[in-house]
Amino acid sequence: MATAQVGVVIVGAGPAGLVLGNLLLDRGIDCVILERRDRAAVEGRARAGFLAAHSVRVLTEHGLSAGLLARGKTHTTCLFRSDRGEFTLDYGKSGLGEPHTVYPQQELVRDLIAEYLRRGGEIRFGAEAEEVAGEAAGEAAEGRVRVRGGADVTGRYVAGCDGHRGIGRAALTAHGTRTARRDHGVSWLAVLVAAPPSLEAVGYALHERGFAGHMARTAAVTRYYLQCPRGTAPADWSEDRIWTELATRLRTAEFGPLRHGAVLEKAVVDLRSDVLESPGAGRLWLAGDAAGLISPSAAKGANLAILQAELLARALEGALAHGDGTGLARYAADCLPRVWRAHEFSHWMSGLLHGPAGEEDEARYGRALQYARLESLRTSRTHQDFFAENYTGI
Ligand SMILES: Cc1cc2nc3c(=O)[nH]c(=O)nc-3n(C[C@H](O)[C@H](O)[C@H](O)COP(=O)(O)OP(=O)(O)OC[C@H]3O[C@@H](n4cnc5c(N)ncnc54)[C@H](O)[C@@H]3O)c2cc1C
Repeated sequence: MATAQVGVVIVGAGPAGLVLGNLLLDRGIDCVILERRDRAAVEGRARAGFLAAHSVRVLTEHGLSAGLLARGKTHTTCLFRSDRGEFTLDYGKSGLGEPHTVYPQQELVRDLIAEYLRRGGEIRFGAEAEEVAGEAAGEAAEGRVRVRGGADVTGRYVAGCDGHRGIGRAALTAHGTRTARRDHGVSWLAVLVAAPPSLEAVGYALHERGFAGHMARTAAVTRYYLQCPRGTAPADWSEDRIWTELATRLRTAEFGPLRHGAVLEKAVVDLRSDVLESPGAGRLWLAGDAAGLISPSAAKGANLAILQAELLARALEGALAHGDGTGLARYAADCLPRVWRAHEFSHWMSGLLHGPAGEEDEARYGRALQYARLESLRTSRTHQDFFAENYTGI
């Protein structure tokens, strides 16, 4: 049994689904968002924090930036540390770089949900989509989503915004869409602590024990990353071990102490990237991590999700409001070059941040290249411009 058909059934209330939903409502297109978790869980999920200027522009154009403009913090520099000292790179100074706005993803999600509901949108929390009918990626006349324990929901289109393990992606790949993927072979322990940032800027530390990162989130919360062996469990990392390792890799003996606080969350992230060769077909179109997962080394994931939601909203408006499918036909060509450019930079950052472990000739060679890249970034204006353009662009 199916419920009444809407314009677009959106699966997933993350940044991609919520931006898409808001932009569709703006254009007078009715939609429903299906989200498998409850509202509190969705609004409490801490992940990204760095919004590129393009993302802020999109959100502002559509009346979605009041919270981030009021409470977000602007960053234009980042700091690199190694056994050769530290330097600050002022990417905002380059004519090619733009500021980042630091605003926790869960706060953005909260704002987007509130605004979507205020605009009259419908979100069904606790509604887990089990399957998008396989024919949606082919010649079907409608998109049909099966909901666990509930009635099917049908729409003229389905937008899979349900992350990289979602059912939207599964339906497309079952229909023959191929994936390009890479395992970067590195894992991070991602830690959220109840302490103010210890540095003015994002901090990247290169160390023989592995990478460590410092990212501000709010005045009272900081995210840290520690490169850790693949297969490590969060439980292997006591608070003591985390702070000791952070102090060693961020070289606090040389550069000053970190502000301590309780560990609020710890999770292990395996750095992997993939891109679907086409982010949609027929009645089914994907945006965000569903269309491609990007390793967090350059903080691009949420920004790509916002970019794709913007492009998809425009394409769906063409199809639904004007009967013009050319935007959907062009969606892949519009997205993929920008997605691949973000992946290229993210891959470059991964090479900068992670030296190979071990004492073999090849490992020593890899680490020497890593330091040569860092030195070039410290001294070459051309290299700094490359960094600024790609670090802040999307
Ligand atoms: C530790 C960490 C740090 C990061 N830092 C940054 C950063 O600084 N900057 C940046 O740009 N990116 C960052 N990212 C990446 C960013 O968080 C993601 O790219 C972003 O969340 C993608 O948004 P999305 O909407 O595509 O997917 P998600 O945020 O994953 O949302 C998908 C939603 O779909 C729901 N869902 C899934 N399956 C179903 C189903 N079957 N039925 C119904 N609902 C379903 C999920 O519950 C979820 O709410 C980081 C990621 C991590 C893990």
